[in-house]
Amino acid sequence: MGTQLTPNVAVIGGGCAGLAAGVALSKAGIRVNLFESSHQLGGRARGIQWQGQTLDNGQHILLGAYSATLQLLETCEVQLDQALLRLPLELNMQDEFSLRASSYLPAPLHILAGLLRAQGLSLSERLAAIRLMARLRLQKFTLEQDMPLQALLADQPARLISMLWEPLCLAALNTPVSTASAQIFLNVLRDSFARAKSDSDMLLPRLDLSTMLADPAASYILAHGGQVSLSAPIECISQQNKELYLQVADIRKAYKHIIVATSPFRVAPLLADLPSVADSVEKCQALKYQPIYTIYLQYPAHIKLDKPMTGLSHQLGQWIFDRGQLYGQHGLIAVVISAEGRHQGLTQEQLAIGVAEEIEQLYPQLNNLLWHKVVAEKRATFACTSNLQRPAQLTSIPGLLLAGDYVSSGNTLQDYPSTIEGAIRSGFSAAGKFINSL
Ligand SMILES: Cc1cc2nc3c(=O)[nH]c(=O)nc-3n(C[C@H](O)[C@H](O)[C@H](O)COP(=O)(O)OP(=O)(O)OC[C@H]3O[C@@H](n4cnc5c(N)ncnc54)[C@H](O)[C@@H]3O)c2cc1C
Repeated sequence: MGTQLTPNVAVIGGGCAGLAAGVALSKAGIRVNLFESSHQLGGRARGIQWQGQTLDNGQHILLGAYSATLQLLETCEVQLDQALLRLPLELNMQDEFSLRASSYLPAPLHILAGLLRAQGLSLSERLAAIRLMARLRLQKFTLEQDMPLQALLADQPARLISMLWEPLCLAALNTPVSTASAQIFLNVLRDSFARAKSDSDMLLPRLDLSTMLADPAASYILAHGGQVSLSAPIECISQQNKELYLQVADIRKAYKHIIVATSPFRVAPLLADLPSVADSVEKCQALKYQPIYTIYLQYPAHIKLDKPMTGLSHQLGQWIFDRGQLYGQHGLIAVVISAEGRHQGLTQEQLAIGVAEEIEQLYPQLNNLLWHKVVAEKRATFACTSNLQRPAQLTSIPGLLLAGDYVSSGNTLQDYPSTIEGAIRSGFSAAGKFINSL
């Protein structure tokens, strides 16, 4: 007997959160109508076409602790070893600093041993890092009161902050240490460093993000009787006699259940006709944003770096990726700059050339730039600041839920920064709430 489909749920937004919700609902036998305003799915995690190649709107990295993301990929039958290069945690800042988790010891000793053996830090700096990790573990990575990460790191040596904590904070929260939420940083540290050893692995995509995630998720929804509409911006949601209505161009559609999975700055116009959800709208409007720039630099195909990913210190760029080793795009280098900074004052041309000149000093083989492309995502992530008031998933209208990386999980100790994992968890959780209520 075929699966019996219950009434439709509308999902607005085909980013990671909307797709995760759509897949989870489809898996439970609920028919999904997903509406995406753009001509392609993926939202802030998508492939883009340039010079005959598929790049990404941003070079992403995932962690072994991204359990919801791995579950989504597995459900959509993505071959994980083909989609992701799994590497044990290793931070390299050229010759200045390097840390490698022990391959023999169990978690969290593998990290502590890595800290103890870290190159480029004095013994007292290494011990300061170990003391902090031991203290955080004793307090179960839980703070009585959230605070800016800088305050939590007050007794850490300046060099240790600039070599270790600051790059980790920017990579995980995309927010400067001076304002970043210490508790959300600790949530990520706990999940990746203090549980299973594989949780601290770095997972580097080997496929562009659309091929890796958005396309398989959409195929899953379609294969389970759902619909995915592209170039279908929802203008607003209205309510009449307990029924919710979506306005798509000049068509009005009724739904009992809607998941709003757009980025937070798109929520206000959608909910403008629903005064009872003003509290959710205000919280979305209060969020601030941080940029991420990805600078693609194409060199001749024989050019190769020694590692697929390396940190850059005291440079405009923060991380450098060799897309030849990851995606077979030989000679293509991606340099990532997280969060706000002086680079925002440069034109894209100045930035690309400035970054190319800097990395040529470190890698003399990068001396023949063929083309460059800067992708500037100005609102890449919400600013993950301390004591942030995040909108709740449930709104005051029972059939209307929010999903997205910015939505509160309802427990600060489980909240994540603006990440693929945060978005997918939120999508799963929204779907779970409908599945339970149906
Ligand atoms: C450059 C960059 C680098 C990043 N690096 C990392 C990283 O290394 N690791 C990591 O985990 N995360 C990273 N992130 C963050 C991660 O990509 C996001 O947290 C995640 O993709 C957010 O997903 P979402 O579904 O919550 O929102 P979105 O991706 O914003 O999806 C919302 C979707 O809703 C659609 N939409 C909006 N309005 C409407 C409407 N009215 N009707 C219909 N559809 C609508 C949008 O077009 C969009 O597709 C990065 C982000 C960027 C931009």
